Amino acid sequence: MHHLKSWRRYVSAALEWSSVDKGLILLAVIIPIFIQYFLWSLYVLNRADRETLINVNMALSFVKIEVSLVIISLVIIATGLYLRKKIPNLIFFQHIALQFFSLSLVLMSYSIGTASFCAGLVLLGAPVFGFILLDRKAVWWATGNALVALIALSYATAYDWLPYAPVMIPPSNHTSTLFWMNSFFFFAAPFFILIIIMADQLLVWWREREERIRVISRTDALTGIHNRMSILDFLNHEMVRAARLNEPLTIALLDLDHFKKVNDNWGHPTGDRVLKDAAKVFRQNIRNCDVLGRYGGEEFIIILPGADSEEGRKVIERCRTKLAETDILTDSESLIQVTASFGMVSIHGQWVESHQLIQIADRALYQAKHNGRNRIEVASL
Ligand code: GH3
Ligand code: MG
Ligand code: MG
Repeated sequence: MHHLKSWRRYVSAALEWSSVDKGLILLAVIIPIFIQYFLWSLYVLNRADRETLINVNMALSFVKIEVSLVIISLVIIATGLYLRKKIPNLIFFQHIALQFFSLSLVLMSYSIGTASFCAGLVLLGAPVFGFILLDRKAVWWATGNALVALIALSYATAYDWLPYAPVMIPPSNHTSTLFWMNSFFFFAAPFFILIIIMADQLLVWWREREERIRVISRTDALTGIHNRMSILDFLNHEMVRAARLNEPLTIALLDLDHFKKVNDNWGHPTGDRVLKDAAKVFRQNIRNCDVLGRYGGEEFIIILPGADSEEGRKVIERCRTKLAETDILTDSESLIQVTASFGMVSIHGQWVESHQLIQIADRALYQAKHNGRNRIEVASL
């Protein structure tokens, strides 16, 4: 069960896989295709009317080719399994795997006709998922080579240098037409389904990863609240909104008092815990619509949309007292308390830039420090 879970987690991180692992996927896809072709050959060769459907000698030669391709893929897999530990990011391995993948598909397509829709499907489908997952240069090279090979084979057959669709006997009656149609579907369907499902799944993972990154880029890693970039975005947004709706807005800038001493006396890990606990206290004591962000080291911003200075002061006062009352566990198992100083400013109807508003709050914060800490100073505009 545990294995299954960690394996699933590994699969869902396919976009993050090493080059070699991504190359190995191609072999995991191509081997079933070889087996499929092999089973098909076996089936046709055992039909009583095989002489009317396929060129038996050619089919037998292609079975041999198939067997050697399987052996080559096993060699490539073994190489990959060796490399994935030694040089996991070797792009060259992806080149090898992709070239092998595309050229064997070209060869198989050729055996039943380069102008078949199987060939078209492979040529269009494989790069689509290749570009999402694999190294794009390697995909371009493989697609280019496959295209050149297909075109060369097509012209070679047109000039009678090579037989067209050597395994195939052109259908001449209903049975053989049906047989070839079914064969094309038999080859095309699994490949088509696989490509579609893989492309969809890869894009799902891509979107999930993007969402994760979006959240991470706006979150402070230590406290889990908005980071500086995010809180400043929020402030800009709320200030524009407050101006448009002519609503009040209050912000408070706060800085923990004598925080250096916490670090010096109890160690940095305890300092980190204080920051986390302080963030938690503030989060629990602001209103639902208020937003808390970490502005810098031990400086936070609280934005209170719609709050005038009286209401803002109530909320901030609650934050201040609750923080001072909170016991925080140090690394040496003793309980300490910390306090913070707050600089608060409210606007209603005036327009200032967000950085100016922060500057004003910062001056009030400086005053709060100057006037003895663990207090709130309200600036006027
Ligand atoms: P004041 O009351 O005047 O604000 O005194 P202070 O000691 O809090 O002021 P100062 O700004 O000089 O010190 C802030 C300290 O916060 C310095 C820095 O080592 C510490 N600090 C900043 N970020 C972190 C952090 O993420 N974790 C920890 N543990 N400490 C941090
Ligand atoms: Mg500071
Ligand atoms: Mg401080």
